[in-house]
Amino acid sequence: LYDGPTAEEILKKRKEFLSPSMFCFYKKPLNIVHGKMQYLFDENGRRFLDGFGGIATVNCGHCHPDVVQAIIKQTTTLQHSTILYLNHSIADFAAALAAKMPGDLKVVFFTNSGTEANELAMMIARLYTGCQDIISLRNAYHGNAAGTMGATAQSNWKFNVVQNGVHHAINPDPYRGVFGYDGEKYAKDVEDLIQFGTSGQVAGFIFEAIQGVGGIVELAPNYLPPVYNSIKKAGGLVIADEVQSGFARTGTNFWGFQNQGIVPDIVTMAKGIGNGIPLGAVVTTPEIANVLTRRNYFNTFGGNPVCTAAGHAVLKVIERENLQENAHVVGSYLKERLTALKDKHEIIGDVRGRGLILGVELVTDRKLKTPAKTEILEIMEKMKDLGVLVGKGGFQGNVFRITPPLCFTKEDADFLVDAMDYSMSKL
Ligand code: PMP
Repeated sequence: LYDGPTAEEILKKRKEFLSPSMFCFYKKPLNIVHGKMQYLFDENGRRFLDGFGGIATVNCGHCHPDVVQAIIKQTTTLQHSTILYLNHSIADFAAALAAKMPGDLKVVFFTNSGTEANELAMMIARLYTGCQDIISLRNAYHGNAAGTMGATAQSNWKFNVVQNGVHHAINPDPYRGVFGYDGEKYAKDVEDLIQFGTSGQVAGFIFEAIQGVGGIVELAPNYLPPVYNSIKKAGGLVIADEVQSGFARTGTNFWGFQNQGIVPDIVTMAKGIGNGIPLGAVVTTPEIANVLTRRNYFNTFGGNPVCTAAGHAVLKVIERENLQENAHVVGSYLKERLTALKDKHEIIGDVRGRGLILGVELVTDRKLKTPAKTEILEIMEKMKDLGVLVGKGGFQGNVFRITPPLCFTKEDADFLVDAMDYSMSKL
Protein backbone atom coordinates (compact mmCIF):
# COMPACT_ATOMS: atom_id res chain seq x y z
CA LEU A 1 0.00 0.00 0.00
CA TYR A 2 1.09 3.59 -0.69
CA ASP A 3 2.67 5.31 2.30
CA GLY A 4 4.17 8.36 0.56
CA PRO A 5 3.22 12.04 0.84
CA THR A 6 -0.49 12.93 0.76
CA ALA A 7 -2.18 15.16 -1.80
CA GLU A 8 -2.12 18.03 0.70
CA GLU A 9 1.61 17.65 1.34
CA ILE A 10 2.35 17.58 -2.39
CA LEU A 11 0.18 20.64 -3.02
CA LYS A 12 2.02 22.55 -0.31
CA LYS A 13 5.41 21.76 -1.89
CA ARG A 14 4.14 22.57 -5.37
CA LYS A 15 2.94 25.98 -4.15
CA GLU A 16 6.31 26.76 -2.64
CA PHE A 17 8.78 25.17 -5.06
CA LEU A 18 7.13 24.73 -8.43
CA SER A 19 6.00 27.05 -11.17
CA PRO A 20 2.93 29.07 -10.17
CA SER A 21 1.61 28.48 -13.70
CA MET A 22 1.15 24.72 -13.20
CA PHE A 23 -2.46 23.58 -13.21
CA CYS A 24 -4.48 20.50 -12.24
CA PHE A 25 -7.86 18.96 -12.98
CA TYR A 26 -10.51 18.84 -10.21
CA LYS A 27 -11.29 21.00 -7.18
CA LYS A 28 -9.33 18.56 -5.05
CA PRO A 29 -6.57 17.38 -7.39
CA LEU A 30 -6.00 13.62 -7.47
CA ASN A 31 -2.76 12.17 -6.15
CA ILE A 32 -2.12 9.40 -8.67
CA VAL A 33 0.39 6.89 -7.35
CA HIS A 34 0.03 3.88 -9.60
CA GLY A 35 -1.07 2.98 -13.11
CA LYS A 36 -1.97 -0.36 -14.68
CA MET A 37 -3.24 -0.64 -18.25
CA GLN A 38 -6.47 1.42 -18.47
CA TYR A 39 -6.56 2.13 -14.74
CA LEU A 40 -5.06 4.73 -12.42
CA PHE A 41 -4.97 4.45 -8.61
CA ASP A 42 -4.92 7.25 -6.05
CA GLU A 43 -3.19 7.39 -2.67
CA ASN A 44 -6.05 5.53 -1.00
CA GLY A 45 -5.94 2.69 -3.50
CA ARG A 46 -9.09 3.91 -5.24
CA ARG A 47 -9.24 2.76 -8.85
CA PHE A 48 -10.16 5.12 -11.71
CA LEU A 49 -10.91 4.21 -15.30
CA ASP A 50 -8.57 6.41 -17.37
CA GLY A 51 -10.51 7.86 -20.27
CA PHE A 52 -7.75 10.36 -21.04
CA GLY A 53 -4.72 8.06 -21.24
CA GLY A 54 -2.38 10.57 -19.63
CA ILE A 55 -3.36 13.05 -22.40
CA ALA A 56 -3.11 10.39 -25.10
CA THR A 57 0.40 9.47 -24.03
CA VAL A 58 -0.14 5.86 -23.03
CA ASN A 59 -1.42 3.99 -26.07
CA CYS A 60 -0.35 0.54 -24.80
CA GLY A 61 -1.79 1.05 -21.31
CA HIS A 62 -0.15 2.33 -18.13
CA CYS A 63 3.03 0.48 -17.22
CA HIS A 64 2.54 -2.13 -19.93
CA PRO A 65 4.84 -4.98 -18.79
CA ASP A 66 6.63 -5.30 -22.16
CA VAL A 67 7.44 -1.60 -22.30
CA VAL A 68 8.53 -1.58 -18.65
CA GLN A 69 10.76 -4.61 -19.24
CA ALA A 70 12.38 -2.99 -22.28
CA ILE A 71 13.11 0.15 -20.23
CA ILE A 72 14.52 -1.80 -17.28
CA LYS A 73 16.70 -3.94 -19.53
CA GLN A 74 18.14 -0.93 -21.33
CA THR A 75 18.50 1.16 -18.18
CA THR A 76 20.60 -1.54 -16.53
CA THR A 77 22.72 -1.98 -19.70
CA LEU A 78 23.46 1.54 -20.91
CA GLN A 79 22.09 5.03 -20.45
CA HIS A 80 23.89 7.49 -22.64
CA SER A 81 23.56 10.28 -25.14
CA THR A 82 23.01 9.46 -28.82
CA ILE A 83 26.05 11.37 -30.05
CA LEU A 84 29.69 10.26 -30.35
CA TYR A 85 29.29 6.44 -30.37
CA LEU A 86 27.20 3.77 -32.03
CA ASN A 87 24.40 1.90 -30.31
CA HIS A 88 21.85 -0.42 -31.91
CA SER A 89 18.77 0.83 -30.03
CA ILE A 90 18.33 4.11 -31.94
CA ALA A 91 18.97 2.43 -35.31
CA ASP A 92 16.60 -0.48 -34.64
CA PHE A 93 13.76 1.80 -33.57
CA ALA A 94 14.30 4.20 -36.49
CA ALA A 95 14.07 1.29 -38.92
CA ALA A 96 10.92 -0.06 -37.25
CA LEU A 97 9.31 3.39 -37.26
CA ALA A 98 10.23 4.04 -40.89
CA ALA A 99 8.52 0.76 -41.78
CA LYS A 100 5.24 2.21 -40.47
CA MET A 101 5.45 5.24 -42.77
CA PRO A 102 4.05 5.56 -46.30
CA GLY A 103 5.93 6.86 -49.33
CA ASP A 104 9.52 7.94 -49.05
CA LEU A 105 9.29 8.96 -45.38
CA LYS A 106 12.32 7.04 -44.23
CA VAL A 107 14.65 9.30 -42.24
CA VAL A 108 14.06 9.77 -38.51
CA PHE A 109 15.30 12.48 -36.14
CA PHE A 110 14.59 11.87 -32.48
CA THR A 111 13.69 14.55 -29.95
CA ASN A 112 12.48 14.63 -26.35
CA SER A 113 9.05 16.19 -26.85
CA GLY A 114 6.40 17.21 -29.33
CA THR A 115 7.41 20.85 -29.14
CA GLU A 116 10.99 19.97 -30.07
CA ALA A 117 9.79 17.78 -32.92
CA ASN A 118 7.67 20.59 -34.39
CA GLU A 119 10.43 23.16 -33.89
CA LEU A 120 12.74 20.92 -35.90
CA ALA A 121 10.13 20.20 -38.58
CA MET A 122 9.43 23.91 -39.09
CA MET A 123 13.12 24.69 -39.27
CA ILE A 124 13.68 21.92 -41.83
CA ALA A 125 10.81 23.27 -43.96
CA ARG A 126 12.26 26.78 -43.80
CA LEU A 127 15.75 25.59 -44.70
CA TYR A 128 14.60 23.32 -47.50
CA THR A 129 12.42 25.94 -49.18
CA GLY A 130 14.40 29.05 -48.34
CA CYS A 131 11.08 30.62 -47.25
CA GLN A 132 9.92 31.78 -43.82
CA ASP A 133 6.15 31.72 -44.13
CA ILE A 134 4.35 28.83 -42.49
CA ILE A 135 0.60 28.35 -42.48
CA SER A 136 -1.09 26.71 -39.52
CA LEU A 137 -4.73 26.37 -38.54
CA ARG A 138 -6.59 28.54 -36.06
CA ASN A 139 -7.33 26.51 -32.93
CA ALA A 140 -4.17 24.40 -33.42
CA TYR A 141 -1.69 23.38 -30.74
CA HIS A 142 1.84 22.61 -31.90
CA GLY A 143 4.00 23.52 -28.90
CA ASN A 144 5.17 26.40 -26.75
CA ALA A 145 8.75 27.24 -27.73
CA ALA A 146 9.91 30.17 -29.90
CA GLY A 147 8.77 28.84 -33.28
CA THR A 148 5.98 26.48 -32.31
CA MET A 149 4.17 29.05 -30.17
CA GLY A 150 3.73 30.95 -33.41
CA ALA A 151 2.12 27.92 -35.01
CA THR A 152 -0.07 27.31 -31.97
CA ALA A 153 -3.22 29.34 -32.56
CA GLN A 154 -5.22 29.81 -29.38
CA SER A 155 -4.67 32.94 -27.26
CA ASN A 156 -4.70 30.89 -24.02
CA TRP A 157 -1.38 29.26 -24.94
CA LYS A 158 0.33 32.23 -26.60
CA PHE A 159 2.53 34.55 -24.56
CA ASN A 160 3.33 38.06 -25.66
CA VAL A 161 6.72 37.32 -27.23
CA VAL A 162 7.95 37.53 -30.82
CA GLN A 163 6.34 34.82 -32.96
CA ASN A 164 6.77 35.77 -36.57
CA GLY A 165 6.47 33.99 -39.88
CA VAL A 166 3.19 32.16 -39.28
CA HIS A 167 -0.20 32.80 -40.90
CA HIS A 168 -3.32 31.20 -39.42
CA ALA A 169 -5.92 29.82 -41.78
CA ILE A 170 -9.64 29.44 -41.07
CA ASN A 171 -10.15 26.22 -39.14
CA PRO A 172 -12.06 23.57 -41.15
CA ASP A 173 -14.18 22.83 -38.07
CA PRO A 174 -17.35 20.99 -39.17
CA TYR A 175 -19.31 21.97 -36.03
CA ARG A 176 -18.41 25.65 -35.56
CA GLY A 177 -16.87 26.60 -38.89
CA VAL A 178 -18.71 28.80 -41.39
CA PHE A 179 -18.65 26.18 -44.15
CA GLY A 180 -19.74 23.20 -42.06
CA TYR A 181 -18.48 19.93 -43.54
CA ASP A 182 -17.37 21.45 -46.84
CA GLY A 183 -13.60 20.92 -46.70
CA GLU A 184 -12.97 22.36 -50.15
CA LYS A 185 -14.42 25.75 -49.20
CA TYR A 186 -12.13 26.05 -46.18
CA ALA A 187 -9.18 25.00 -48.35
CA LYS A 188 -9.70 28.14 -50.43
CA ASP A 189 -8.58 30.21 -47.42
CA VAL A 190 -5.12 28.63 -47.56
CA GLU A 191 -4.89 29.55 -51.23
CA ASP A 192 -5.95 33.12 -50.35
CA LEU A 193 -3.37 33.36 -47.56
CA ILE A 194 -0.67 32.32 -50.01
CA GLN A 195 -1.81 34.83 -52.62
CA PHE A 196 -2.52 37.79 -50.34
CA GLY A 197 -0.34 37.20 -47.27
CA THR A 198 2.94 35.92 -48.71
CA SER A 199 5.24 36.35 -51.72
CA GLY A 200 3.43 33.43 -53.31
CA GLN A 201 6.04 31.01 -52.00
CA VAL A 202 5.78 29.39 -48.56
CA ALA A 203 7.89 27.15 -46.32
CA GLY A 204 4.99 24.92 -45.43
CA PHE A 205 1.70 24.03 -43.84
CA ILE A 206 1.41 22.34 -40.44
CA PHE A 207 -1.74 20.59 -39.19
CA GLU A 208 -3.16 18.06 -36.74
CA ALA A 209 -5.45 15.59 -38.52
CA ILE A 210 -7.58 15.74 -35.38
CA GLN A 211 -6.94 18.76 -33.17
CA GLY A 212 -6.42 17.48 -29.64
CA VAL A 213 -5.95 20.47 -27.33
CA GLY A 214 -8.37 22.34 -29.59
CA GLY A 215 -11.19 20.01 -28.52
CA ILE A 216 -11.00 16.93 -30.79
CA VAL A 217 -11.80 18.76 -34.00
CA GLU A 218 -11.57 16.50 -37.04
CA LEU A 219 -10.66 18.51 -40.14
CA ALA A 220 -13.62 18.68 -42.52
CA PRO A 221 -13.59 15.92 -45.16
CA ASN A 222 -11.85 16.70 -48.47
CA TYR A 223 -9.91 19.54 -46.84
CA LEU A 224 -6.36 18.24 -46.97
CA PRO A 225 -6.07 17.22 -50.66
CA PRO A 226 -6.73 20.73 -52.10
CA VAL A 227 -4.59 22.32 -49.37
CA TYR A 228 -1.81 19.89 -50.24
CA ASN A 229 -2.01 21.02 -53.86
CA SER A 230 -1.93 24.74 -52.95
CA ILE A 231 1.10 24.26 -50.71
CA LYS A 232 2.92 22.24 -53.38
CA LYS A 233 2.20 24.93 -55.97
CA ALA A 234 3.72 27.50 -53.59
CA GLY A 235 6.84 25.36 -53.16
CA GLY A 236 6.09 24.44 -49.54
CA LEU A 237 6.25 21.29 -47.44
CA VAL A 238 3.28 19.68 -45.71
CA ILE A 239 3.88 18.81 -42.06
CA ALA A 240 1.55 16.40 -40.25
CA ASP A 241 1.63 16.80 -36.46
CA GLU A 242 0.70 13.30 -35.28
CA VAL A 243 1.51 13.93 -31.62
CA GLN A 244 -2.07 13.04 -30.60
CA SER A 245 -3.62 11.35 -33.63
CA GLY A 246 -0.77 8.96 -34.43
CA PHE A 247 0.16 5.45 -33.31
CA ALA A 248 -3.08 3.67 -34.19
CA ARG A 249 -5.33 5.94 -32.14
CA THR A 250 -7.77 6.76 -34.95
CA GLY A 251 -8.38 3.04 -35.49
CA THR A 252 -8.99 3.23 -39.24
CA ASN A 253 -5.32 4.03 -39.90
CA PHE A 254 -2.01 4.08 -38.08
CA TRP A 255 -1.56 7.81 -38.79
CA GLY A 256 -4.29 10.44 -38.66
CA PHE A 257 -3.36 12.04 -42.00
CA GLN A 258 -4.03 8.74 -43.80
CA ASN A 259 -7.74 9.27 -43.13
CA GLN A 260 -7.70 12.03 -45.76
CA GLY A 261 -5.48 10.19 -48.20
CA ILE A 262 -2.49 12.49 -48.42
CA VAL A 263 1.19 11.73 -47.81
CA PRO A 264 2.91 14.65 -46.05
CA ASP A 265 6.56 15.62 -46.50
CA ILE A 266 7.29 15.63 -42.79
CA VAL A 267 5.56 13.83 -39.91
CA THR A 268 6.09 14.76 -36.26
CA MET A 269 5.20 12.62 -33.27
CA ALA A 270 5.51 12.45 -29.48
CA LYS A 271 3.23 11.45 -26.56
CA GLY A 272 2.02 7.95 -27.54
CA ILE A 273 5.33 7.09 -29.23
CA GLY A 274 6.89 6.26 -25.84
CA ASN A 275 3.89 5.23 -23.72
CA GLY A 276 4.76 7.82 -21.09
CA ILE A 277 8.52 8.11 -21.69
CA PRO A 278 9.82 11.49 -22.97
CA LEU A 279 10.34 10.89 -26.67
CA GLY A 280 9.48 12.62 -29.92
CA ALA A 281 10.41 12.21 -33.56
CA VAL A 282 10.46 13.88 -36.95
CA VAL A 283 10.26 11.65 -40.01
CA THR A 284 10.94 12.94 -43.50
CA THR A 285 12.40 11.98 -46.86
CA PRO A 286 16.15 11.49 -47.47
CA GLU A 287 16.20 14.52 -49.77
CA ILE A 288 14.59 16.85 -47.26
CA ALA A 289 16.60 15.43 -44.33
CA ASN A 290 19.74 16.38 -46.18
CA VAL A 291 19.33 20.09 -45.35
CA LEU A 292 20.62 19.42 -41.83
CA THR A 293 24.03 18.45 -43.20
CA ARG A 294 24.65 22.13 -43.97
CA ARG A 295 25.68 22.57 -40.34
CA ASN A 296 26.16 20.30 -37.33
CA TYR A 297 22.90 19.13 -35.83
CA PHE A 298 22.44 17.06 -32.70
CA ASN A 299 20.12 16.55 -29.75
CA THR A 300 21.92 15.20 -26.66
CA PHE A 301 19.14 12.94 -25.37
CA GLY A 302 16.94 12.71 -28.45
CA GLY A 303 16.77 9.01 -29.26
CA ASN A 304 18.78 7.84 -26.25
CA PRO A 305 18.91 4.05 -25.81
CA VAL A 306 16.39 3.92 -22.94
CA CYS A 307 13.72 5.94 -24.75
CA THR A 308 14.20 4.24 -28.10
CA ALA A 309 14.05 0.80 -26.44
CA ALA A 310 10.71 1.89 -24.98
CA GLY A 311 9.49 3.22 -28.33
CA HIS A 312 10.42 0.02 -30.10
CA ALA A 313 8.58 -2.03 -27.48
CA VAL A 314 5.52 0.20 -27.97
CA LEU A 315 5.41 -0.54 -31.71
CA LYS A 316 5.61 -4.27 -31.05
CA VAL A 317 2.81 -4.14 -28.46
CA ILE A 318 0.54 -2.14 -30.80
CA GLU A 319 1.04 -4.80 -33.46
CA ARG A 320 0.91 -7.93 -31.31
CA GLU A 321 -2.14 -6.81 -29.34
CA ASN A 322 -3.97 -5.51 -32.41
CA LEU A 323 -4.47 -2.15 -30.75
CA GLN A 324 -5.37 -0.38 -33.98
CA GLU A 325 -8.21 -2.82 -34.59
CA ASN A 326 -9.27 -2.45 -30.96
CA ALA A 327 -9.23 1.36 -31.23
CA HIS A 328 -11.51 1.02 -34.26
CA VAL A 329 -13.94 -1.50 -32.77
CA VAL A 330 -14.18 -0.08 -29.24
CA GLY A 331 -13.93 3.51 -30.48
CA SER A 332 -16.83 3.05 -32.93
CA TYR A 333 -18.92 1.45 -30.19
CA LEU A 334 -18.06 4.24 -27.74
CA LYS A 335 -18.90 6.92 -30.29
CA GLU A 336 -22.23 5.25 -31.04
CA ARG A 337 -23.12 5.19 -27.35
CA LEU A 338 -22.04 8.81 -26.85
CA THR A 339 -24.05 9.85 -29.90
CA ALA A 340 -27.11 8.12 -28.46
CA LEU A 341 -26.59 10.11 -25.26
CA LYS A 342 -27.08 13.25 -27.31
CA ASP A 343 -30.77 12.38 -27.75
CA LYS A 344 -31.17 12.28 -24.00
CA HIS A 345 -29.14 15.28 -22.85
CA GLU A 346 -29.76 18.67 -24.41
CA ILE A 347 -26.38 19.83 -23.13
CA ILE A 348 -24.51 17.69 -25.69
CA GLY A 349 -24.01 19.84 -28.77
CA ASP A 350 -21.70 17.57 -30.74
CA VAL A 351 -20.07 14.14 -30.61
CA ARG A 352 -17.07 13.70 -32.89
CA GLY A 353 -13.73 12.10 -33.63
CA ARG A 354 -12.82 8.58 -34.63
CA GLY A 355 -11.29 5.54 -33.02
CA LEU A 356 -10.21 6.34 -29.49
CA ILE A 357 -9.82 10.08 -29.99
CA LEU A 358 -13.34 11.34 -29.35
CA GLY A 359 -14.84 14.65 -28.29
CA VAL A 360 -18.14 15.58 -26.66
CA GLU A 361 -18.86 19.31 -26.88
CA LEU A 362 -21.20 20.75 -24.26
CA VAL A 363 -23.43 23.75 -24.93
CA THR A 364 -26.16 25.46 -22.93
CA ASP A 365 -28.05 26.30 -26.12
CA ARG A 366 -27.83 24.00 -29.15
CA LYS A 367 -28.84 26.68 -31.63
CA LEU A 368 -26.46 29.36 -30.36
CA LYS A 369 -23.82 26.75 -29.45
CA THR A 370 -23.13 28.60 -26.18
CA PRO A 371 -20.18 26.87 -24.48
CA ALA A 372 -21.22 25.12 -21.24
CA LYS A 373 -18.04 26.09 -19.42
CA THR A 374 -19.17 25.67 -15.81
CA GLU A 375 -21.45 22.70 -16.42
CA ILE A 376 -18.61 20.68 -17.90
CA LEU A 377 -16.59 21.13 -14.70
CA GLU A 378 -19.51 19.90 -12.62
CA ILE A 379 -20.02 16.83 -14.80
CA MET A 380 -16.29 16.11 -14.81
CA GLU A 381 -16.18 16.20 -10.98
CA LYS A 382 -19.16 13.85 -10.76
CA MET A 383 -17.61 11.41 -13.22
CA LYS A 384 -14.41 11.43 -11.19
CA ASP A 385 -16.42 10.69 -8.04
CA LEU A 386 -17.91 7.72 -9.90
CA GLY A 387 -14.41 6.53 -10.83
CA VAL A 388 -14.05 7.78 -14.41
CA LEU A 389 -11.43 10.27 -15.60
CA VAL A 390 -11.88 12.15 -18.86
CA GLY A 391 -10.03 15.11 -20.33
CA LYS A 392 -11.25 18.58 -21.15
CA GLY A 393 -10.25 21.00 -23.86
CA GLY A 394 -11.34 23.22 -26.71
CA PHE A 395 -10.72 26.95 -26.91
CA GLN A 396 -13.65 27.59 -24.54
CA GLY A 397 -12.85 24.60 -22.33
CA ASN A 398 -16.26 23.02 -22.98
CA VAL A 399 -15.27 19.80 -24.76
CA PHE A 400 -14.72 16.43 -23.14
CA ARG A 401 -11.64 14.81 -24.63
CA ILE A 402 -11.81 11.03 -24.56
CA THR A 403 -8.46 9.48 -25.49
CA PRO A 404 -8.06 6.35 -23.34
CA PRO A 405 -5.25 3.80 -23.59
CA LEU A 406 -5.92 1.71 -26.71
CA CYS A 407 -6.51 -1.42 -24.60
CA PHE A 408 -9.88 0.09 -23.58
CA THR A 409 -12.71 -2.51 -23.72
CA LYS A 410 -16.40 -2.27 -24.61
CA GLU A 411 -17.17 -2.73 -20.90
CA ASP A 412 -14.93 0.25 -20.13
CA ALA A 413 -16.76 2.23 -22.82
CA ASP A 414 -20.10 1.31 -21.23
CA PHE A 415 -18.89 2.34 -17.79
CA LEU A 416 -17.60 5.67 -19.11
CA VAL A 417 -20.86 6.48 -20.93
CA ASP A 418 -23.03 5.35 -18.00
CA ALA A 419 -21.01 7.57 -15.66
CA MET A 420 -21.37 10.50 -18.06
CA ASP A 421 -25.09 9.84 -18.47
CA TYR A 422 -25.67 9.71 -14.70
CA SER A 423 -23.54 12.81 -14.06
CA MET A 424 -25.40 14.78 -16.72
CA SER A 425 -28.76 13.74 -15.30
CA LYS A 426 -27.67 15.10 -11.89
CA LEU A 427 -26.87 18.59 -13.25
N1 PMP B 1 1.51 18.86 -30.92
C1 PMP B 1 0.33 18.47 -30.44
C2 PMP B 1 -0.76 18.08 -31.39
C3 PMP B 1 0.11 18.41 -29.05
O1 PMP B 1 -1.07 18.03 -28.58
C4 PMP B 1 1.17 18.76 -28.18
C5 PMP B 1 1.00 18.72 -26.68
N2 PMP B 1 -0.26 18.86 -26.19
C6 PMP B 1 2.39 19.16 -28.75
C7 PMP B 1 2.52 19.19 -30.12
C8 PMP B 1 3.54 19.54 -27.89
O2 PMP B 1 4.05 18.40 -27.26
P1 PMP B 1 4.93 18.52 -25.94
O3 PMP B 1 4.04 18.95 -24.83
O4 PMP B 1 5.49 17.12 -25.79
O5 PMP B 1 6.01 19.50 -26.22
